[in-house]
Amino acid sequence: MYNDVLLFIDGEWTKAAAGRTMPVENPATGEVIGTVAHADQSDLDRALEAADKGFKEWRQVSGFDRAKVLRKAADLLRERADKIAPLMTLEQGKTLPEAKGEIMVAADVTDWNAEEARRTYGRIIPARAGNVYQMVIKEPVGPVAAFTPWNFPINQAVRKIACALAAGCSIIVKAAEETPSSPAELVRCFADAGVPAGAINLVYGVPAEISEYLIPHPVIRKISFTGSTVVGKHLAALAGTHMKRATMELGGHAPSIVFDDADVDLAVKILRANKQRNAGQVCVSPTRFLIQEGVYEQFVDKFTNGMKSIKVGDGMSADSQMGPMANPRRITAMEEFIGDAVQKGASLKTGGKRIGNKGNFFEPTVLTDVPLDARIMNEEPFGPVAVIAPFKGFDDVVAEANRLPFGLAAYAYTGSAKTAQDLATSVESGMISINHHGIALPETPFGGVKDSGYGSEGGTEAIEAYLNPKFVTQASL
Ligand code: NAD
Repeated sequence: MYNDVLLFIDGEWTKAAAGRTMPVENPATGEVIGTVAHADQSDLDRALEAADKGFKEWRQVSGFDRAKVLRKAADLLRERADKIAPLMTLEQGKTLPEAKGEIMVAADVTDWNAEEARRTYGRIIPARAGNVYQMVIKEPVGPVAAFTPWNFPINQAVRKIACALAAGCSIIVKAAEETPSSPAELVRCFADAGVPAGAINLVYGVPAEISEYLIPHPVIRKISFTGSTVVGKHLAALAGTHMKRATMELGGHAPSIVFDDADVDLAVKILRANKQRNAGQVCVSPTRFLIQEGVYEQFVDKFTNGMKSIKVGDGMSADSQMGPMANPRRITAMEEFIGDAVQKGASLKTGGKRIGNKGNFFEPTVLTDVPLDARIMNEEPFGPVAVIAPFKGFDDVVAEANRLPFGLAAYAYTGSAKTAQDLATSVESGMISINHHGIALPETPFGGVKDSGYGSEGGTEAIEAYLNPKFVTQASL
């Protein structure tokens, strides 16, 4: 059922020029399930030429007509979701319902951007002379190079593709080599919906080679990257050197705060479900659980019991609630984070170990009493590990929430409207969700501050990243 994945260049599915491929593994079994074509420089040159040509054509299509093509792509995604979801589960590991949910959200993201295509409004600025019109018009920035990761193979890509195409840009996507089939099916939906040849291209290869070739290239006018902070800083520096606009959606270390006056059962239920999601490999996953002293013991017990009850298994099985980690690197990372924390004095409440010796399964894990100098208190764990610590009062918890250089998502539970309002203005994050989980909707901004990056991939803000304002002043003679 898993097909070998090709490159998509200038409207054609094609092998790499040199015929190179790389194996794709199923993280639940470790078995090779297919291959992905590996581009070299000659493939990238063809993609660049196609994106240049595709931009010139696509930018002439009106927003009204671009919107029709995007809406068709969204419909195709919905129609094909049951066929695409198993491909994602096979290559990435997440459960089938999660995979299908991701595809349905991608369709909603595409619809949102279709609507935005018709609203790239400029403005008229009152002039100082009666015969002058001062106008701001919005123009597409040009061909985009986008780099997307393996944790949400479709959603991280669709946020860039749908937005770039809505604005009238063309795009070359380098999706993750470990999860190539589902983004290929996403691209197929856009192509089948009528996006012209060259306006959308998909390549795979050696990530550093591709980014170092595409970013400086004069055809490329805009970069968008989702991934780790360390790689993001490298690519942002490269973009800066070549004066390319960039959007960076990077790592997080979400503080998840529960006050004494919170509905503790609600907090446990929602935070646990979000910790378990995609085996914790989510940039907005709740990570540092900061619990006020009065409800600390209760929260630790209930949360730990919840984590123990999670059924871990192959994402293709109907009874699995959490699949394997996406690659063996994550198992090593979990073992190192937990080993370091325990060695520095942390208590392991549950989990802590790999499950079995086939596939990348890892136990849902809870750590308490973790000292601040443990690596897991400072680096993004990107796995099913929760760190729980007590706090005394508002000022202490805000100081801890803001201690790290990350600032992506934050969560809080409180019965006090004043505390909620004070948190919203005190926590340094791009997003904060209070008393529910409401992050990452197509119509709301998504992005971080500090080392978590810049730019927004949702809401009305998203399309602005793909538009240049042009000022036109015109006098009637
Ligand atoms: P990594 O940092 O090497 O790779 C992360 C992603 O960036 C991959 O998709 C990779 O293909 C891409 N990448 C890496 N180097 C690149 C380069 N020079 N040019 C272009 N793309 C490049 O490591 P990894 O082991 O895949 O993931 C490790 C960490 O990355 C995780 O612990 C997590 O912190 C972060 N990550 C974040 C997200 C996110 O949604 N923000 C997604 C995936 C990984």
